[in-house]
Amino acid sequence: MEDLISNSLPGMRDLLPDEIGCWQYVEEHARRIFDRYGYLEIRTSILEPTELFARGIGDDTDIVGKEMYTFTDRSSRSVTLRPEATASVVRAYLQNSMHRGGGITRLYYTGPMFRYEKKQKGRWRQFHQIGAEALGSDHPAVDAEMIEMAMWLLESLGVEAHLLLNSVGCPNCRPAYVERLRGELRRNSGGLCEDCRRRSESNCLRVLDCKVESCQPLIARLPVITDHLCAECAEHFARVKECLDEAGVAYTPAPRLVRGLDYYVRTAFEIVSGELGAQNALAGGGRYDGLSEALGGPQVHALGFALGLDRLVMLLPEARRAERRWAPELFLAHLGDAALKKVLAIARDLRHRGHACTLDPSAGTLKSQMRLANKLGARHVLILGEDELARGAASVKCLQDSSQREIPFDGIAAYLGERAPE
Ligand code: AMP
Repeated sequence: MEDLISNSLPGMRDLLPDEIGCWQYVEEHARRIFDRYGYLEIRTSILEPTELFARGIGDDTDIVGKEMYTFTDRSSRSVTLRPEATASVVRAYLQNSMHRGGGITRLYYTGPMFRYEKKQKGRWRQFHQIGAEALGSDHPAVDAEMIEMAMWLLESLGVEAHLLLNSVGCPNCRPAYVERLRGELRRNSGGLCEDCRRRSESNCLRVLDCKVESCQPLIARLPVITDHLCAECAEHFARVKECLDEAGVAYTPAPRLVRGLDYYVRTAFEIVSGELGAQNALAGGGRYDGLSEALGGPQVHALGFALGLDRLVMLLPEARRAERRWAPELFLAHLGDAALKKVLAIARDLRHRGHACTLDPSAGTLKSQMRLANKLGARHVLILGEDELARGAASVKCLQDSSQREIPFDGIAAYLGERAPE
């Protein structure tokens, strides 16, 4: 016999029926909230030309440099499983001429992303994001509205979350800041880790992202970008904060929160949760007015965020989790062939009337059928033997309060309707 293939690849996992209810709940909830803000779903392809991410995320990022699942397809084309969705959404927006319509295009997506990351708690190589992109406006109220939507989504799910906010300036004001930063880093390079020494030259903004303990004292003394914003960027940032204040969204200024790529401008934010431990980031977002041009399109003002669903589902309060575990309203137990025929018919009728019910024709004794009903968390069990069949009624037991009643066949749907939870 050939070897059994019983393991998925490292960093990949199956989402099993036990927890899938939580995933569906979070996704449905997010869809309802996005819908209220006028965000429409877009489903882009999962496999893209490698060049899209090389240009859209940047060659010198960890994602593109080390983490992409890239291979050659049968036409010798280099293709990549998407490590994030923003570049794909902008590609689809341009490809389908959505920019010609004018006005703001609000889009959202959900689905799997792929990054060949180091194994760590809270990190997977196939993980899931839900995210939103607003294209076609540079108005600060659009930034604030999107952040408000993300925070409301988390709050309404009962998840503890905290907003960190910054502005990373624009191509007019950032170069002078970057020069100052590079000067400081050169003067103090002795105290930096090896990665930071390299980043000081290649992409010095990324030094601010470093998590190595020994780099932190120096990072804390480095100049911050918010002291170097041009008048337009400072005004934009002030307006975003004003709109957030008006919406009642609390934030912590995070002047060292940056995005290491040129096309990111102005608003940058992260949403973190104290309940997550070391990998505490739930979502990251920002304005990327230069991305469309980097992909060869016209200038499109835009911003977006991506929220990690794997982490969000982990944070769902236990009460919500329990609520979403599938359990039948009714388990139908039978004794004998004639009763089996009848319970199959009753189950069919109840399902057509909207009730979730199940049974196991192969389960054997009544005792083993009762065990199954309990294991599934059924709210009620219907028991049908020959005597009940002859009377045209079945015993229905409520597993929560152990009450039991004999109910005529045509009264079962009404009974379940009355006993349905709020
Ligand atoms: P990013 O696209 O890197 O800005 O990530 C946005 C969010 O996606 C993060 O805040 C995480 O919640 C989630 N995320 C990113 N990478 C992973 C991963 N490898 N495993 C699980 N979640 C991830």
